[in-house]
Amino acid sequence: MRNLPEPDMPIDLRTLLIALAINLLTMAVSLPLVMGRISAPARRAQEGAALQAAGWVFILVSGLMERGGAADRLFSTLAMVAFALSVALLATAFELWSGRAGRVRAQWLLALAMPLGYTIGFAHYPFRVGWANGLLGAQMLLVVATMARAAPQPVGRWRWLVVLSLSLHAAVTLARGVLGAFFTESYPRFLSPHPVNYTAAVVALVTSMLTVLGILLAHRDEAARALERLATVDGLTDVLNRRAWLERARTLLDAGRRRGVPMAVLMFDIDRFKQINDTLGHDAGDRALCLVAQQLGAAAGAADLVGRYGGEEFCVLLAEGDDANAARFDARLRERLAAASQAELGFVIGYSAGVSRCRGGPDSLDAMLRRADAALYRAKDAGRDRTLDTGFGVLQVA
Ligand code: GH3
Ligand code: MG
Ligand code: MG
Repeated sequence: MRNLPEPDMPIDLRTLLIALAINLLTMAVSLPLVMGRISAPARRAQEGAALQAAGWVFILVSGLMERGGAADRLFSTLAMVAFALSVALLATAFELWSGRAGRVRAQWLLALAMPLGYTIGFAHYPFRVGWANGLLGAQMLLVVATMARAAPQPVGRWRWLVVLSLSLHAAVTLARGVLGAFFTESYPRFLSPHPVNYTAAVVALVTSMLTVLGILLAHRDEAARALERLATVDGLTDVLNRRAWLERARTLLDAGRRRGVPMAVLMFDIDRFKQINDTLGHDAGDRALCLVAQQLGAAAGAADLVGRYGGEEFCVLLAEGDDANAARFDARLRERLAAASQAELGFVIGYSAGVSRCRGGPDSLDAMLRRADAALYRAKDAGRDRTLDTGFGVLQVA
């Protein structure tokens, strides 16, 4: 058997980087095609991915130019602009996807300073390599630091993908900066076949893939959250819809019963609401409904549950619903609603309500709602603008 010749083709850095650029370009083109209608963070992420691809293309083009010449400087600087903006845009996208405000001022400052210092100090190779990679690495570590912190809204596992991917990328970027700045003789040019440089190219290949996965997963999470919101929140008043309220109220009631907390359910019906529609129009009626929902939310505590039961009827589960608390809540609401409706709509909105305390033992939400409803209808019969308990006594602050 003939011996096969030893392969004499070491991995060549330029080829690796061309593969990376092709990968990134493919992703930059396909992301907008597969993501469909997108939100603000998704747009930032797509722009970030496109700039990442552009950065590598500029790097490769700069390599074709006369070394140290004006064209080399131009394309190298453009590459740095693209990389720095890319990280800042991705940082903004991930911040927004985590429910934060998306203000990443430090990122933008670094993204401005990096190419500026790079082009000014272009003639001094160790400085420009140290500076550019150092600041780029710092940008990445900033994203890692925020993504590793607890977010204002539940964030899926994609967060750890971003943390892992950018930590790796930051590590090799910083290593390349140190190499260029302090060990310049072993890294005299961008395509120098140094182990750090090979590692950086392979890591860039891996992390570009992970980043795109992170973007797609974050986008999916966002769509799932939007659907969940559509299914649980009333479109007009922004409080829970009936189905979601019932579901959550059952869970809260069970938990409260186990802990022996006195919970209460209130049912509200706006008084003479039809008159508002009839005399001022449906829009005024809608505004009145929004105002009532808003005041219910403001009068309720964080642990209470506000919902729109239907039409102009609302319901609240009071987490601490003993008689005194329920009466205080009712008084607070009447006062707030009267003031707010007079100020914003020019007339006072009143309501009738029924309140039912949890009786413990086998008492169910349905039974509580039936009792509150009966009290509510007794309140209407008795002349409206009042809240009655299940013994049909008027709820009053002691
Ligand atoms: P009462 O004091 O006995 O409760 O009288 P009312 O006029 O409030 O009661 P009624 O149940 O007769 O009227 C409720 C009205 O609420 C009827 C319906 O057209 C109106 N309504 C229900 N949903 C909406 C809505 O989303 N927007 C508006 N503008 N009106 C609504
Ligand atoms: Mg009604
Ligand atoms: Mg009514």
